[in-house]
Amino acid sequence: MLLQSGALAADRGQWHFAELLGGPGADPGFGGTGEPMSNTNTGRRDFLLTGAALGAAAAVSPLATQAAQAQTGYVIPAPDATSLPVVGSAQRFPVRRIYCVGRNYLEHIRELGNDERQPPFFFAKHRDMIVQNGSNVFYPGLTKDYQHELELVVAMKSGGENIPREQALSHVYGYGIGLDMTRRDLQTASRQKEQPWEIGKSFEQCAPCSAITPVERLGKHLSEGKIQLAVNGKMRQDGDLNLMIWNVQDIIMHLSTQVGLAAGDLIYTGTPAGVAAVVAGDKMVGTIAGLGELSITITPARTARAG
Ligand code: MN
Repeated sequence: MLLQSGALAADRGQWHFAELLGGPGADPGFGGTGEPMSNTNTGRRDFLLTGAALGAAAAVSPLATQAAQAQTGYVIPAPDATSLPVVGSAQRFPVRRIYCVGRNYLEHIRELGNDERQPPFFFAKHRDMIVQNGSNVFYPGLTKDYQHELELVVAMKSGGENIPREQALSHVYGYGIGLDMTRRDLQTASRQKEQPWEIGKSFEQCAPCSAITPVERLGKHLSEGKIQLAVNGKMRQDGDLNLMIWNVQDIIMHLSTQVGLAAGDLIYTGTPAGVAAVVAGDKMVGTIAGLGELSITITPARTARAG
C-alpha cells in the first residue's frame, strides 16, 4: 500500500515518462492515434514542469534511465495518459474511461433493423483508442465494412453512482464531437452469435474525438442543434440532438446505476441515421452546433502489424 500511495502521489510527473524514456510508447510512428505522441499527451513541457529532476536524468544515459524508472515505482514503462484539448484553454482534459450508448436515435435503430422498444445500453472503448482531431487513422484489420457513427460526446468533471436525473448535468464539464468507428460486419456477426460487441466496437483508433468545449464557454447544456457528418464533402449523417431518445440527463442517470462515473469519463451518446462505410482516402468532417468540427482522414491499412 505504501508503494501504491507513493506512486499515486508522484503521478502527475510520471504520466509522460514513456515519452522521455524511449519505451515502446514513445515511438512517434504509431501511438494508437496516428500522430506523434507529443501531440496526443499534455506534452513534454508539462512533464518538464512537473518532473524536471527525473526527466533530466533520464535524458542523459541508460543507467540514469533505469534509475529514473525505478523511482517511478513501476516495473515496466507506465502507459501514456490520454487527454484532449480544451477550447479556450491551454490546459487539457484528461480521459479516464470511454462509454458509448448503444442505440439512441430512432431512425438509426430502424436503419439497422433493431427493436425500438429496448432501453438504452452501454459498451466501452479504451482511452488509448482516442484519436485527436485532424489525424489520419489506418483502415483497421479484419473488416470489410468500416463505418462512421458521429456522436455528441459528454465530458464529465465529476460523477458517482446512482446519480439522480436532476443532478446529472452538474457533473458535466463540457461537450465534444466524437466518432464511434465501427467494424459493422464484425459487430453484426457477434450479435448474431450472442457474443459481446468488443471486436466490432473496441479496436485501434476507434474513438476519434474533438477538443472539449466547456459548458461555461457554451453558456448552456446541449439538448438540440445540428449534428452532421460529411464524407469527402458529401453529407452522410444529418440529424439534430433533439432526436435523441435518451437525453444527456437520462444517459448519465442510467449509466451511473451500472458503474461509478468520475471526472475524466467520456460518454458517446449514440448516432443519428445515415451510418455508412468509409474506405482509405476518405475524409470525414463532423460538426455539432456550437462545438466546431472534427476532421479525420482514413489511410490504407498498415501492412506490418506488431500484434
Ligand atoms: Mn455509436
